[in-house]
Amino acid sequence: MTDSVLVIGAGVAGMRAALDLARHGIQVVLIEREPVLGGVMASRLSDEEESFSFAHGVEVPKTQQIAAQKNIEVLTLAEIVELAGTAGDFTATIRQRARFVTDACTRCRHCHTVCPQVAPNQFQAGITLRKAIYTPFRDAFPSSYVIDIETCLNNPPNYMPCQRCVEVCDDKAIHFEMAAEQQLTRKAGAVVVATGFAVEGSGELDRYGYGSHPDILSYMEFEQLISPVGPSGGFVEKLSNSTSPENVLYVMHDASRFATGCAAAQCDKMADQEIKNIVVLHPSTTKEGDPFGTFWRRIARHSVALVEGEVERIAPIEDDQLRVRYKEANQPLSTTEDYDMVVLTTRAKASPGFSKTAAVLGIEHNGFGFVRAGQTIGGINATSQPGIYVAGCASGLKDVHETIAESKSAAIHSMRHVQARADKADTPIVTGHTGVMIDGRWLTDEQIRKRIESILLNLMQAT
Ligand code: SF4
Ligand code: SF4
Repeated sequence: MTDSVLVIGAGVAGMRAALDLARHGIQVVLIEREPVLGGVMASRLSDEEESFSFAHGVEVPKTQQIAAQKNIEVLTLAEIVELAGTAGDFTATIRQRARFVTDACTRCRHCHTVCPQVAPNQFQAGITLRKAIYTPFRDAFPSSYVIDIETCLNNPPNYMPCQRCVEVCDDKAIHFEMAAEQQLTRKAGAVVVATGFAVEGSGELDRYGYGSHPDILSYMEFEQLISPVGPSGGFVEKLSNSTSPENVLYVMHDASRFATGCAAAQCDKMADQEIKNIVVLHPSTTKEGDPFGTFWRRIARHSVALVEGEVERIAPIEDDQLRVRYKEANQPLSTTEDYDMVVLTTRAKASPGFSKTAAVLGIEHNGFGFVRAGQTIGGINATSQPGIYVAGCASGLKDVHETIAESKSAAIHSMRHVQARADKADTPIVTGHTGVMIDGRWLTDEQIRKRIESILLNLMQAT
């Protein structure tokens, strides 16, 4: 039996599962397709001081914790291309693209200054630009710069018309002679799928005037404005003129728990900055009980107006103002108001490339492209393959409480398939055919169920 677990995806769910496993002396191979850890919330999870570390009262994992954990091997720019074997004895083949910059990088930024190639920074929702050699944001992990070879003028190893970055790198950290990609194999007793989610492109927002004015933002762009490592250092500013907005309209696409969780977090941030007038326009239908209960608990200390209705038109007017016409539910006439900024939410979808990963793992996905998750003891982490578990938004959108709870549950279930190394553990466990030993105590299936239920209860009480 191996001592390793493979975790695919390094967002909130993958990082939480990896840390829980590593703490118990299990070797974790954490793979991430992007050049840095953090997933959709990358910039928020990298900042030690950021309040999101206790989002909704729940502590979320931080990239610094991953960096400090010796039992976690981090492979960025990596994706799984083959999985052979069965639960307890998987062999994963991983393809890793070259970074072209080694750990010798000291983030001196000299290369960034001389690089002539520019592209939108996808880690800041495209509202800022980066160079072909770049680091996505302050405190990114891994900290070494990375070369986006699609944007770079070079096409190594044969065609290299540009050497500007190499010439100014005193630390000799840039190496275009690296193979463009390499294949690695790793043994794993279990696999945790934590591939997260993505947001729809901005195309569906065009009908609201998105793109016609810089102060009509998608919520991922707005997320960067409130991030401490974003372009304005976390202060909400109008992109048109760098002033603070006084009136903001927040337009919700749906009223799911996930959407209201995002809205609550973002409106909370705005209200903390004393933005005078925040109006949340939300659709009338909800299929998930009363998600606004959570919203109001979070936002109750602020004066945020919640209006049931739909936007009809948003048009820029003079003085960088936006004129909004919307139809309030149960009102005969439309309302017209002027705002300094409009934030538009978009539909979320399964992570790009997930269907390819699902095919490699041999697991089923549902009709919407997410993992089809089944019941495990005390959780909903099972996939259609024994030894492969799912955590977080890979199986559908959920809020941070559910994500953390599922990640902890997936970690516990994965422990059943590995032999942990007591000498490498902060909290030793021993696994065997009768159950799992955690904190020096053998747990039966029933005790595992109770333990997971207690994790869930504690998380729910934290709201
Ligand atoms: S790659 Fe070299 S020049 Fe660029 S930031 Fe790193 S050490 Fe500095
Ligand atoms: S070699 Fe590529 S990354 Fe380096 S300066 Fe030239 S374009 Fe930029």
